[in-house]
Amino acid sequence: MRGRTALVTGSTSGIGLGIARSLAAAGARVAVTGLGDSGEIEAAVSAVRDAGAPEARYFPADLRDPAAITALVGVVRAWGSIDVLVNNAGMQHAAPLERMPPGKWDDILALNLSAAFHTMRLVLPGMAERGFGRVINVASVHGLVASVDKAPYVASKFGLVGLSKVAALEYASAGSRESGGVTVNCICPGWVETPLIEPQIEARRDGGSRDDGVRALLSEKQPSLRMTLPEEIGALATWLCRREAHNLTGASLPVDGGWTAQ
Ligand code: NAD
Repeated sequence: MRGRTALVTGSTSGIGLGIARSLAAAGARVAVTGLGDSGEIEAAVSAVRDAGAPEARYFPADLRDPAAITALVGVVRAWGSIDVLVNNAGMQHAAPLERMPPGKWDDILALNLSAAFHTMRLVLPGMAERGFGRVINVASVHGLVASVDKAPYVASKFGLVGLSKVAALEYASAGSRESGGVTVNCICPGWVETPLIEPQIEARRDGGSRDDGVRALLSEKQPSLRMTLPEEIGALATWLCRREAHNLTGASLPVDGGWTAQ
């Protein structure tokens, strides 16, 4: 990854931070972006620097806003050509369809799906010109199967899986084996230990401990009964960036302890 620049959305926390640290350890320059208070942002940038990207920098943007995405891509591109784009920023809200606030639908679709359309339309042409590019979209098992109470989340993640396949096809012939080509893939995690799933752990504690909540959550759907760690998703994302992965495109890779094998 030496000499490559990566833009990782949602890298101030959770899976995005795990991916940013893994890419940094492999030698990439990393553009960190996401929301959070100044302490959280500083801690994320230092963690990415410590992992091996001393030049790592924070670029602010609320990715629900297409104009903010255009501005973000512009400033990051002025810093380094974007060779790796990780669309990871995402949000969740659980409620039955009839009680889902319409504003949550709009926000979740804007962030989890439309933001990836905008970053990809801006970044993919440059990748094709250079003959190398990697787009990694962090979807979810909920891009492959549904669960109750997650209408906008599931709709956005199924959309992201479909969008990624279209982009993979449109750029499949860019570059060469030697240059590494341009690939677009989704990673589809089951439960990963991050702040995003804390409300769902809390909802299953039933008066017990956090561990009881975790056990209840995993036993519903994830047969391994183990959560994935953000750095484990980071290791897969980093492998997808290797030149040898030039022919792995348009895929949706589950990391779900067997959830979608059932
Ligand atoms: P997280 O809450 O720890 O991190 C989310 C990141 O997105 C943060 O950096 C946050 O600042 C950023 N973000 C939120 N709203 C934003 C906005 N409007 N503009 C810009 N950035 C914004 O969550 P996570 O669990 O690390 O989730 C990362 C991705 O992984 C999401 O797309 C999520 O759907 C997906 N995912 C998570 C799990 C899981 O179990 N944790 C499972 C499957 C998929």
